[in-house]
Amino acid sequence: MTDVDSDRALHTFLELVRIDSPTYEERRIMERVAHELESLGLAVFNDRTGKDGAGNLHARLGGTRADLAPLLVCAHTDTVEPGRGVSPVVRDGVVRTDGRTILGADNKASVAAVLEAVRTVVRHNLPHREVDLVFTWGEERGHAGAALFDVSRLRAAMGITLDDAADPGAITIAAPAYTSLLARFVGVAAHAGAAPERGVSAIVAAARAVSLMQLGRIDFETTANVGLIRGGTARNSVPGAAELEGEARSLDNAKLERVVSGLREAAEAAARDTATRLELTVKREYAAYRWTESEPIVVEAVAAVRRAGLLPSLRASGGGSDSNTFNERGLRCVNVAIGMKDIHTVNEHIAVDDLARTSRIALSFITG
Ligand SMILES: [Zn+2]
Repeated sequence: MTDVDSDRALHTFLELVRIDSPTYEERRIMERVAHELESLGLAVFNDRTGKDGAGNLHARLGGTRADLAPLLVCAHTDTVEPGRGVSPVVRDGVVRTDGRTILGADNKASVAAVLEAVRTVVRHNLPHREVDLVFTWGEERGHAGAALFDVSRLRAAMGITLDDAADPGAITIAAPAYTSLLARFVGVAAHAGAAPERGVSAIVAAARAVSLMQLGRIDFETTANVGLIRGGTARNSVPGAAELEGEARSLDNAKLERVVSGLREAAEAAARDTATRLELTVKREYAAYRWTESEPIVVEAVAAVRRAGLLPSLRASGGGSDSNTFNERGLRCVNVAIGMKDIHTVNEHIAVDDLARTSRIALSFITG
């Protein structure tokens, strides 16, 4: 079987990670990806739903195998911070950063892997299915790009994202729903030494809210967290404002709603107890999904991983991907693992071999 060119995949990956693309700043990398697809003879549509001319890219690879269903293949181009001036280092078969930034293997390893797979199909004229290639912006901010993409453009009714950190071969068939919460407490600022009785501390309110919240692992498929807290202006002032940001996740949509209600009630009770005013923003970012082993996309994924010479394993994940959002919008998608490690940290890295494996998996899905 014709193989991908792993050196070329690595070359593309190193080039892509050097193009800064924090969320909302994807214009340049999208231009680069579009150029690559166009050079392979594909027509590329940019929906311009992002900022500054950025948008989701959609290109269709017309199929030569009518026996196979059309497939969506998706990767995202945005990264978290610190993601500017990435300087990749390849050492001992692993791509890392210089320690100052994230790498952006999440998810540019997949962008490079998919481009290499398409290149292999086109250059070697390999028989293949019809494929809707989609490169999204804004995945790291609640899948903003996928949420705005017009799915009626797609011929595919099922597909994959390649955006999971497990070792290649793993297929995420269940992923949690996710809700974010921003609670802002407004009290009364006052001088802490001269007139503390005139103040109402918003930090006390926020602290009380956190102490009333059930956080951490709620059950085997449900978690909650407060990850950010901000407030106050000076050590000698009773703080007039404080806010906290939290989240909850569950593989079960109904459980998630119960947990979020609990967080909301804790914030409301804290505001009442401390005579502060509460401004609460609760946002359902995306829904959960769960497929069975007999679901056609799961069957396809298992077969594709096997054809790529890897051992398939089906798993539930604690994290979301564009697959959650596409599933909520009526498609049937799974998230496929690529072996990126320590993502969202300056220690992020990926093995050169895993990049090649990911490209082989993408090729296997496309050729069927
Ligand atoms: Zn990602």
